[in-house]
Amino acid sequence: MAKRDFYEILGVSKSASAEEIKKAYRKVAMKYHPDRNPDDASAEEKFKEAAEAYEVLSNEQKKARYDRFGHAGVGQGGFGGGGGFGGGGMSMEDIFDQFGDIFGNSPFGDIFGRRRSGGGGRGRRGSNLRVKVKMTLEEIANGVNKKIKVNKLVHATGVKYTTCQSCGGQGVVRKVTNTILGQMQTTSTCPRCNGAGQSISERPKGADENGLKREEEIIEIDIPAGVQEGVQLSMRGKGNAGPNNGASGDLIILIEEIPHEVLKRDGNNVIFPLFISFADAALGTKLEVPTINGKARITIPAGTQAGKIFRLKGKGIPALDGYGKGDQLIDVNIWTPKSLTKEEKQMLEKLKDSPNFQPNPEKTEKSFFERMRDFFD
Ligand SMILES: [Zn+2]
Repeated sequence: MAKRDFYEILGVSKSASAEEIKKAYRKVAMKYHPDRNPDDASAEEKFKEAAEAYEVLSNEQKKARYDRFGHAGVGQGGFGGGGGFGGGGMSMEDIFDQFGDIFGNSPFGDIFGRRRSGGGGRGRRGSNLRVKVKMTLEEIANGVNKKIKVNKLVHATGVKYTTCQSCGGQGVVRKVTNTILGQMQTTSTCPRCNGAGQSISERPKGADENGLKREEEIIEIDIPAGVQEGVQLSMRGKGNAGPNNGASGDLIILIEEIPHEVLKRDGNNVIFPLFISFADAALGTKLEVPTINGKARITIPAGTQAGKIFRLKGKGIPALDGYGKGDQLIDVNIWTPKSLTKEEKQMLEKLKDSPNFQPNPEKTEKSFFERMRDFFD
């Protein structure tokens, strides 16, 4: 089934503010909340769908990518598989973990509060871990599997927990007050266990007060082709472990581009500045140019002007969403000799006044700006 547009799901326009998006999400989420629609699978689907839309639209970067690339840009099908990148398929648990707070101030605080996994409660979610990954142009063009070493918090083995006596493991305490409108029930975080629902009863050496310890881990990530500087990818549950047996945060991977020696990236195209001699430009020649993956042979026709741009179709960078590929553009520069021997001077002086050497740009030869427009539109 085709995925619905995120803005449509939340019923907001593309120009909606962050506040409007939040409000809209709350409205939809309340309507389809599982506590209000027990055993209604279609409501649950809609509830999940809204959470997914909100996850993207509430995050500035994800929203920008979604606006540009659609679902594929935010890991919905594009790079869903192998690397386990976040995106589609949120579980109910995830939704409450991530967005539980949004229901916090509502009159339904009690019903819509954070839901805990059955049996004994659990600690808070761990923090996200951020790493920078440097990529060459070759890696960006082809996609790459990287193994990176991270230093992160993990659950220490041998830690024993007991259920909190104050809240019975729920992590929250309820208080009932009588008001003129009737009984009102409020919920607050258990002050004894800080919401963990449990406390550590036995802690082996090396484990901190949250039952965690630091460890180095090698994480393998599949980075899709077409990423660019500043793009963030997230791997759910690969971040720091949560205190007191809590779920792990995410690993956020920030992409950094290593500039290429001779090729310059421009969107999904790559530009190669080529210098040829005046003689080659006049007579024509065949030569090799570097491309992202190896070399390519090109023919320079006789009479090539400086500023001519040749295009090697499909030799650029694949689009992140998997549709299409950029080109390599060869920007021709004519090399003017900086010094000449006496003999060379004499030869050029002989040619200088010849009619064919007089500049005579034809109307059909486009200006620099027109050429750029043709290529980058
Ligand atoms: Zn407690």
